[in-house]
Amino acid sequence: MKEGHMFKELKKRIEGILSSGSRNMERPQIKKNNESNIPGVYIIGDLAGAPVIKLAMEQGYNVVEHIASLPGAKGSDPHVYDLIVAGAGAAGLNAALTAKEKGLRCMVIEKNKVANTIENFPEGKWVYAEPDERPPKGKLWLDGATKENLIKRWHQIIEENQLDVRMMEPLEKLEQSNGYFDAKTSKSTPWREGMVPLLVSLG
Ligand SMILES: Cc1cc2nc3c(=O)[nH]c(=O)nc-3n(C[C@H](O)[C@H](O)[C@H](O)COP(=O)(O)OP(=O)(O)OC[C@H]3O[C@@H](n4cnc5c(N)ncnc54)[C@H](O)[C@@H]3O)c2cc1C
Repeated sequence: MKEGHMFKELKKRIEGILSSGSRNMERPQIKKNNESNIPGVYIIGDLAGAPVIKLAMEQGYNVVEHIASLPGAKGSDPHVYDLIVAGAGAAGLNAALTAKEKGLRCMVIEKNKVANTIENFPEGKWVYAEPDERPPKGKLWLDGATKENLIKRWHQIIEENQLDVRMMEPLEKLEQSNGYFDAKTSKSTPWREGMVPLLVSLG
């Protein structure tokens, strides 16, 4: 690459970073219990402002505790999920584990791999479990560990708890009809979900 071109490229990238704080970024509106402006759709984790893994997990746990306490949280139609979680990161996995514990019929749909954000950390990166003074909530394991060990533990937990996680299946569309959400993914005809919740934890 020529020097002049390299400099232009670098300048473009630096300017992009410097102006990112003032860009008009669309963020979801979040109300009490992390419910979005669409009733029944909840936002957790990174997308809801949780800055670290432990706090993302905590949001997943707290929101499902709330959802499970709602009247009609558990449906009786075997063709309808009680809860669909979009995104198998810290928030979504802990949410799904809590849902399972509460007896909700739950499925996780994931665009890439389990814990994809952490998968993309540099090889051998130490993952910190901050804040220290706050014990992790829920069944997903968290302690200081290399990213490889953390992901290995999470896969074990998914298996032990028989979580229904569909990988390489991004959520593409969500529609409401007759009191249901139909969650359309890249692979499915819509997954049908009871009027109660959809948890979005897309990082
Ligand atoms: C370089 C780096 C280092 C970090 N180090 C630490 C650390 O040491 N300790 C710490 O606590 N935190 C750390 N963090 C922050 C931590 O990664 C986040 O707080 C955490 O991953 C948030 O979890 P989450 O579940 O909210 O989101 P994510 O982990 O981002 O999970 C979201 C998931 O949603 C999936 N997804 C996206 N779109 C779709 C779709 N349409 N359909 C289905 N699935 C979808 C993604 O593939 C992803 O798997 C670090 C972050 C970075 C970038």
